[in-house]
Amino acid sequence: MSNEYPRVKDKVIDGHLHIEAWTNKEGEEFIHCFEEYREKMGLHSLCLAALPSGYGADVSSNIMCAMYKLLNKNTYANGGLLYDQYPMGEKLPEGMDFVTQLNELEEIGFDGVKMLEGKPTLHKKIGKNLLNDEYDKFFAEAEKRGTHILFHVNDPAEFWDKDKVSQDTIDHGWFYGDGTFATHEELYRQAYTILERHPLLCVTFAHFFFKSEKPQDLVELFEKYPNMCIDLTPGWEMYISFYDNKEYYKDFFEKYSDRILLGTDSSFPWYTENFMWLLDRVYRYVSCDDVVKAFDDRYESGLNLSKNAINNIVCKNFERRSGEKPKEINKEALRAYFEKYKHLMVEKDIERVEALFAKYL
Ligand SMILES: [Zn+2]
Repeated sequence: MSNEYPRVKDKVIDGHLHIEAWTNKEGEEFIHCFEEYREKMGLHSLCLAALPSGYGADVSSNIMCAMYKLLNKNTYANGGLLYDQYPMGEKLPEGMDFVTQLNELEEIGFDGVKMLEGKPTLHKKIGKNLLNDEYDKFFAEAEKRGTHILFHVNDPAEFWDKDKVSQDTIDHGWFYGDGTFATHEELYRQAYTILERHPLLCVTFAHFFFKSEKPQDLVELFEKYPNMCIDLTPGWEMYISFYDNKEYYKDFFEKYSDRILLGTDSSFPWYTENFMWLLDRVYRYVSCDDVVKAFDDRYESGLNLSKNAINNIVCKNFERRSGEKPKEINKEALRAYFEKYKHLMVEKDIERVEALFAKYL
């Protein structure tokens, strides 16, 4: 297939990717799934965000990301926390509080933590307030260590509004206005309180923290919390706000370029072409003023930021937060992790991990 997207011109890290399946439709394993994308686009590095409690995944998500990191050079990964009785209905071993899990993830060689726990769906399933004691100890420890947390909190406000929510969103199960989900305001309240309690937390809120219509809120947060960032993973709705307020956002991106990280939220088993399409839109939006097809199919030019701002956004901020090189995978620690938690996996996935370990570990 021809490459219709130009390769990137800068040192670029896609800081937010997911692996959601063992194989794609053609039966190809996940194990090198982003490498064609990396090569074709000329990316310097990638960061995988594990989702062991999201979208029907389980602990194998952490193991898959660790294996990917082991087998593909210059790959970072953020591991995720595990929960009692969800999603497998089996208990975690005794004593596996979140700080102990953080220790385990670090020992394996994860570069940070991914949390989807602030997304209304998962927040409801887990049934824990993000301000509870156990989370509080975890955030205190992460703050102390400077652990980079990639945190999805909230969703667009219209997902709570039955008059505004789209059918597509409803079909995804993302209409939250039936009274069974935390409210939009409550999820922000929890996130804001986490920041008040842990003002030095190295947290990156995904999808612009759903604040593209209230960027002044971000300005206030940036002024208060020196290690808080946001990422540019679409959320197409946020790009629509960017396009509609071009002058404002050009200044905003320039001024806060040390608080904004590039990412696509691309996910295997999508096709490589999809990853490339997304990266092209996000990267060219910040880096040039070519007129390119925008997310809503209108044609828009990019912000054409200064060299310094581009470098911050597409690479430097990530490196400052997660390190200039990914951590090494500790094979023994990974093996021990699998043995400890494999009772939370289905038989088929246990066999898959055993086969991978036999081949590569
Ligand atoms: Zn994501």
